[in-house]
Amino acid sequence: MRAKKNEWLTHEYFRTYRIANAVDTIMRDPFSYLRHLEGLTVNDGIYDFLPHWQKESALHKFIRYVADEILMNDTDGPTRVPFGSDPIYPDWILPVDAAMLQYGIIDEPLFFIPDEPVPEEVTDSGGDSSESKDPYHVVNACYDYLLNLRWTQVYEDLMSRITDEVFYVMFLNRRALANLNEFLAMHVGEVASDHFGTDEAPLVDLFVRDGELKRVRPPMWARRAVFYRDRGRCTACGTDLSGLIDTLNVGNYDHMMPLARGGLNDVTNLQLLCENCNLKKADKIVAPSNRYRRWY
Ligand SMILES: [Zn+2]
Repeated sequence: MRAKKNEWLTHEYFRTYRIANAVDTIMRDPFSYLRHLEGLTVNDGIYDFLPHWQKESALHKFIRYVADEILMNDTDGPTRVPFGSDPIYPDWILPVDAAMLQYGIIDEPLFFIPDEPVPEEVTDSGGDSSESKDPYHVVNACYDYLLNLRWTQVYEDLMSRITDEVFYVMFLNRRALANLNEFLAMHVGEVASDHFGTDEAPLVDLFVRDGELKRVRPPMWARRAVFYRDRGRCTACGTDLSGLIDTLNVGNYDHMMPLARGGLNDVTNLQLLCENCNLKKADKIVAPSNRYRRWY
């Protein structure tokens, strides 16, 4: 039988909205953040996004990148979270450890933030080790800890949990998804087959021509996700496409960012449209509707 362990998601909401907000802000104006995004798209980074219909969607990859950056920024300062039973003299840990504790990934902190070095006293005739006077002693210790942690399974587990949760709240936001796909399309559009090294030869088959990916029918899981997200209605005109009210209305899974413009075969690039609205849109780039059905 198929394993069902991935069907449910337990939310802990560790920084979920803060990360979602950062992703949304960057996607609204990616050009202001290009330098920060280099790790994601420059050189071969974009290749990870090319294979069609990955469950680890473009948004998942993006969230992971931003969440990792935010955790790295915590070491600069560093951002401290109290730990321990003594409220007056707590031990201090980094948010990354607090998060892993909250998610039950670890049972106790892996790293305690060291004390600030004691400032050199005027009367002191010397003899302190140079390390204890290093003003960057604490920041460096935090940075080294996180740098090493990033290679471990516990960090990987944390990233998948955070990514899942942020994806869950952002998947509804078609404008943010369209912005993300527009940004990525710009990079896909620049991919030419002669860029690929021998290792990347299979990627050539994904393209119909340079800068344009082949059209591959969305798998059932992607169609169902988009159908339920969009409540079985055309996102543009609201026509019911469930087949319950009108069996003649046919739903189309539209690529918000058209393939012809560098769009990805990615679940975050789809929206539900009726046949009429889909024909009208064709290969144009049209901002997705920001009209949503109320819950009640
Ligand atoms: Zn329509």
